[in-house]
Amino acid sequence: SSLGPEQPAIVISRFGQHADVETTDGQVYRCNIRRNITGLVTGDKVIVRLAVEQTATISGVVEAVHPRKSTLTRPDLYDGVKIIAANIDQILIVSSVVPAFTTQIIDRYLVAAEDTNIPPVIILNKIDLIEADEQAAIDEALQRYQEIGYPVYKVSSKTGEGVQEIKALLNDQVSIFAGQSGVGKSSLINALLPDAKLAIGDVSENSGLGQHTTTTAKLLHLPSGGDLIDSPGVREFALWHLPADRVGWCFIEFRDILGTCKFRDCKHLDDPGCAIQDAVSKQQIAQDRFDNYHRIIASLDEQRHARHFRS
Ligand code: GDP
Ligand code: ZN
Repeated sequence: SSLGPEQPAIVISRFGQHADVETTDGQVYRCNIRRNITGLVTGDKVIVRLAVEQTATISGVVEAVHPRKSTLTRPDLYDGVKIIAANIDQILIVSSVVPAFTTQIIDRYLVAAEDTNIPPVIILNKIDLIEADEQAAIDEALQRYQEIGYPVYKVSSKTGEGVQEIKALLNDQVSIFAGQSGVGKSSLINALLPDAKLAIGDVSENSGLGQHTTTTAKLLHLPSGGDLIDSPGVREFALWHLPADRVGWCFIEFRDILGTCKFRDCKHLDDPGCAIQDAVSKQQIAQDRFDNYHRIIASLDEQRHARHFRS
């Protein structure tokens, strides 16, 4: 059948040889994808031509895709990389105060986010559960993140405290929520997007890598403005097999100092002439961040080791 003129659209969901695209008037069309376009993902900005006569289920063709400003990837079975979403503006790293507030997980997500070059924002959820005796330590840790340049938001999806600020943060942006299971991502998304009705406490932990391929990322419009891209795979976006020197670069306050260590292969542990270690002792780099850096390096080494023995 004949096709109408080219027009811009955004991919809101992709499955197999088809994509659901939304044109600028807000209409959604299920389209075929030209064979020369490979790896189209949610968030891709595309050019489509709609069928002049709208019949059956397929109503147009994706003709071309614009260059991406960012991509989110996950490990594909064994060592490859698979792109799961495109053109994300910010990664909202959600953490919680139960079972305990910890910077270790936040730093792992920050490293993963820095590696993608998509700006991260730190959200501490469940602030209604903060005990009086932990408040000071939590505030101190959050302030350290602000000092190195990360925006920090404190919310309770239960009481609604801070939710307005998150709405403002999401406005005009394409965002994703990432974070461990149970921190309250579904609850927060429900607070922002009442119609989505995500299952609370619906743990996606046991969805193995293979299953993610069936759960395509979806682009959702927020009534208060801005878009979310969401799927179990997107939420579980995490750190995996980065080389050690890349991990150092992903600690943003280490970045400018890394090159000034005496030895090029400095491990920043007890190496002589280590500029990072020196900055820690002068309290220019927080001890806590330094410790988490080494924990990440150690865990990557363990993963590599495990993979070595598996193959
Ligand atoms: P997800 O796995 O990150 O999507 O987490 P859920 O949204 O499913 O939340 C996990 C549990 O934490 C549920 O029992 C929620 O009711 C609870 N929860 C979420 N946000 C808050 C909050 O701000 N305060 C309290 N007290 N509980 C919360
Ligand atoms: Zn060093």
